[in-house]
Amino acid sequence: MDLGIAGRWALVCAASKGLGRGCAQALVGEGVNVVITARGEEALQTTAAELRALNPVATVRAVVGDITTEHGRASALAACPQVDILINNAGGPPPGDFRDWDRDNWVKALEANMLTPIELIKATVDGMAQRGFGRIVNITSAAVKAPIDVLGLSNGARSGLTGFVAGVARQKRLASRNVTINALLPGPFDTDRLRITLAGAARAAGKAVDEVAAARREANPAGRFGTAEEFGAVCAFLCSTHAGYLNGQNLLLDGGAYPGTF
Ligand code: NAD
Repeated sequence: MDLGIAGRWALVCAASKGLGRGCAQALVGEGVNVVITARGEEALQTTAAELRALNPVATVRAVVGDITTEHGRASALAACPQVDILINNAGGPPPGDFRDWDRDNWVKALEANMLTPIELIKATVDGMAQRGFGRIVNITSAAVKAPIDVLGLSNGARSGLTGFVAGVARQKRLASRNVTINALLPGPFDTDRLRITLAGAARAAGKAVDEVAAARREANPAGRFGTAEEFGAVCAFLCSTHAGYLNGQNLLLDGGAYPGTF
């Protein structure tokens, strides 16, 4: 299927590795020009080179910076001639017990997983509406549907973003101008983030990481973790011309782990 987005410009935040990278890869495969960001220069440049090799037709720009800062966002936006597609992503907050978190911990989580995507939506969405095309995908978490106790910072910050987006996605001045805003809610995907979480769980339980990982895979109806490639493919479809009527949704990608009927 031709997704109809070749030649568009996408800003893919936090994309040197993991799910962000999966999204950038799928978009580049469709001929989309991308600006990718991450804090570490080496991994980001390696990813940029690999993406360029994947599809020489697409332009790939790499911007080093922390997307949760004003400077990081400004540099990312400045590198993108126009933002037709915005993939909001950043590292997730650490696990823990809410009794141990102070105000600073909360502010950091809110900056990364709620306020940064809101700032980037604000900076791009009216231009998208003017041009009559825009796709925004927020990478949140399955924890928005089914909270994970130790990830309270994530549960809270991402739910705040989800509530905000539920309203703004339905603004007539955006939706009637072919601008959509949706969220992808990852369950367990095989990335660095998951490996770190598994290592923490293994330490806490006094078990081997392999044992904990095998149990987590087995507990999922699919019997496995998701891959960044399959995450990216769904993201690219959400960004396609075919998905113009799919708006304001929170789509779980979790192998069927969420046990609800609706
Ligand atoms: P990852 O650790 O594999 O990759 C994160 C990427 O983001 C890296 O490229 C890193 O350099 C970049 N990054 C992190 N913080 C950044 C910042 N402040 N500015 C710029 N770049 C930054 O993580 P992932 O598994 O791809 O997760 C992506 C998001 O999805 C995270 O918020 C995570 O909490 C969430 N999530 C992941 C899973 C999973 O199973 N992998 C499940 C639920 C939610």
